[in-house]
Amino acid sequence: MNASVSDQTSEHARRLTKASRIVVKIGSSLLINKATGELNRAWLESLASELAELMAKGQEVILVSSGAIALGRAYLNMQPGQHRLDEHQAAAAAGQVILAHGYQELMGAHTIKVAQVLLTPDDTEDRRRYLNARSTLETLMGLGVLPVINENDTVTTQEIRYGDNDRLAARVAEMVSADCLVLLSDVDGLYDSDPTEDSSAQLISEVKEITPELEAVAGKSQTAYGSGGMATKLAAARICMSAGCAALIASGQEARPLAAVMAGSNCTWFLPSKTPLAARKQWIAGMLIPAGQLVIDEGAEKALQKGGSLLSVGVQVVQGKFERGDAVSVTTADGRAIAHGLIAYSSDEAQIIKGVQSQEIEQRLGYQGREELIHRDNLVLLECQ
Ligand code: GLU
Repeated sequence: MNASVSDQTSEHARRLTKASRIVVKIGSSLLINKATGELNRAWLESLASELAELMAKGQEVILVSSGAIALGRAYLNMQPGQHRLDEHQAAAAAGQVILAHGYQELMGAHTIKVAQVLLTPDDTEDRRRYLNARSTLETLMGLGVLPVINENDTVTTQEIRYGDNDRLAARVAEMVSADCLVLLSDVDGLYDSDPTEDSSAQLISEVKEITPELEAVAGKSQTAYGSGGMATKLAAARICMSAGCAALIASGQEARPLAAVMAGSNCTWFLPSKTPLAARKQWIAGMLIPAGQLVIDEGAEKALQKGGSLLSVGVQVVQGKFERGDAVSVTTADGRAIAHGLIAYSSDEAQIIKGVQSQEIEQRLGYQGREELIHRDNLVLLECQ
């Protein structure tokens, strides 16, 4: 290995070592013992110890795990072969219990608690549900809990599914502004041609832009378990890159796969050109038609200019009809639009709590809501005009 390649490798490895928030996705082919159709416990124990090590270092981790359908099929003695959607869903419902129980036990050995979160595309794409899912995950991570995510297969239909957990994992990484998504499967990266057919195929270690050529190369590789191939991994990487999150395709077939990546083993890195926060703010700024408007006082304007959140006490007027999670514009009393943000309350609620101190919100509304009307991570200042 020449010096520049090894420098590049350690620079890549540092992304994982330094990431404060990591989403790890594991495919069914790694999780399931092909002979028995049961959980591959030895492998999972090794992964669990790696996740525990990351968490002990203070890194926040979310696990996206497939495997429910494959485990459920074996548990319910379903014959191999094609199954109807409702049979998949029945298998997923049964298998998810085995999966969750397995993680609880394996992480419990490291005194780490787990929480199961089942998502549908609506939860990451509809802004109201998105804000709820995001804050649930934030709260779990704040409590030192490992969220274990899968698609909520029981309630999705063929047309409204993520379809594969690569995409789901990328949406989760985007939603929580993760720094890094690790896609572990039975492939160690993206090659410049199909390595199963071409022995001279070269691994691509770094991708900064997903070009049509790369997509053509990715083709449609498929494994016996799970639904993702290289094409879905590329789609996931694309979502991550535009969210400012690095994505990594690496083999999970060896024990301690994350340590292997940090030590510089073969893998493909997809590198974003911006940070997660910058990408998120760009996304909010791009919401062109705000559903409502908040007029704020001078104190609130100063707080926003200093990078603070918008509190109810600084809001004088609430205009328009909006729901929690909608985009609203923030203006000064003399009509200058200064910010866009995703609001944590509906317009009816905002009318009640405008001008009110945060600690009185519960008393006014009769329930406890968020402390901020618009959290600073959900707020973007507009260029001065
Ligand atoms: N949600 C599916 C399961 O748990 C997996 C989908 C996938 O592997 O991409 O079985």
